[in-house]
Amino acid sequence: MSSFQYIIIGGGISGLYAAYLLEQRGITDYLLIEANDLLGGRLKSMPINEKEAFDLGATWFWPNEQIQLSNIIHDFGLTTFNQYQMGEMLIERSQSRPPQRLQLHSSLSKRVKGGMKTLIDKVVSKLDQTHILLSHQVIELVQEGEHTKVYVKCPDHEIKVFSTQQILVAIPPRLAVSTIQFTPDLPATFKENWLNTTTWMAPHAKYIAVYDHPFWRDQKLSGSAHSSVGPLAEVHDASSAEGSAALFGFIGLPAHARKTIKDAELAQHCRHQLVRLFGSQAATPKSEFIKDWAKDSLIATEDDQSPAMGHPYPPIKSPEKSIWQNKIIGISSEFSPSYSGYLAGAIEAVTLGIQTLFLKT
Ligand SMILES: Cc1cc2nc3c(=O)[nH]c(=O)nc-3n(C[C@H](O)[C@H](O)[C@H](O)COP(=O)(O)OP(=O)(O)OC[C@H]3O[C@@H](n4cnc5c(N)ncnc54)[C@H](O)[C@@H]3O)c2cc1C
Repeated sequence: MSSFQYIIIGGGISGLYAAYLLEQRGITDYLLIEANDLLGGRLKSMPINEKEAFDLGATWFWPNEQIQLSNIIHDFGLTTFNQYQMGEMLIERSQSRPPQRLQLHSSLSKRVKGGMKTLIDKVVSKLDQTHILLSHQVIELVQEGEHTKVYVKCPDHEIKVFSTQQILVAIPPRLAVSTIQFTPDLPATFKENWLNTTTWMAPHAKYIAVYDHPFWRDQKLSGSAHSSVGPLAEVHDASSAEGSAALFGFIGLPAHARKTIKDAELAQHCRHQLVRLFGSQAATPKSEFIKDWAKDSLIATEDDQSPAMGHPYPPIKSPEKSIWQNKIIGISSEFSPSYSGYLAGAIEAVTLGIQTLFLKT
């Protein structure tokens, strides 16, 4: 059985940034285990050519408030650009009446050139990638004195076991207690705390339509729209920094209703709505994409099928007064005190989690 000082569960931005901070401290005795066959988790960008990609997960950060994330993006040498917000936004209240035009007053939100996945690629490029194990899902943790045994399902469904002194949980807390068995069991109140922490944006789905030309801008429209009739509840300009024109929208239809419709049909409804909003040029996108996060079993659970009421309240990082105390430390974005659920939250939660680790030793 291979043994590691640290095992990181999850290869989204939290897990990867934790690996980066460990390596920055000269620590190489760790293993990062990711269940998917690619890294990034809720940072996922759909490439349309070698340079351009559209974000299916997180899109924005807010540099005026999220200073730590902003500095990291800058220090990693990533290029950023402003979310396009010139012109008016649309409010759609009925399918039979034209949408109302409103002047937009929004805060400064930024995007990363090449898509948010660029941030993942940058962190990965700074790591010793021999410490990353893809397509392996952690299914059970068994606490045995100083060590924890980590049971992992391999792609061929065989089970592998690793041993570690310290586990960093870089997956959403609700997902952790819903899909990983803890032996002995976690304290009931702690488990409930993690189970009641909603996974930010897990119930949602995004639709993206790519066009030859940003025709809405010619009409002095920003590409932003809010609709109470749907299927898209909120629409934004998603054009790339390199110039490819696109619109994206959050699908307002609940997850259980989306399950009854094929993606092609759903895309058709979204397209029709874009025609209502922006005119006939919206009818012929070059390409369309849908990513339904509620259907992704490595992000969402049954409890995430309904939209959350606001941002998650940061849960307890580690179960106190239990055999698991400080053996497991939660570091996914939900654990952030300031930006729970946001990308900036992932950076903050990891920083605090790693600090806890080194205060402990
Ligand atoms: C549609 C959408 C839009 C968003 N928009 C924004 C935005 O504009 N701005 C913003 O700041 N934030 C946004 N977010 C939130 C942001 O994406 C997240 O805060 C951030 O990506 C979370 O990163 P994480 O590493 O903590 O968790 P995750 O990205 O969820 O990573 C967890 C990883 O663990 C893996 N995993 C799961 N279970 C196991 C297991 N048992 N064993 C091993 N691996 C496992 C998963 O495959 C995944 O790769 C959005 C999210 C979504 C879905």
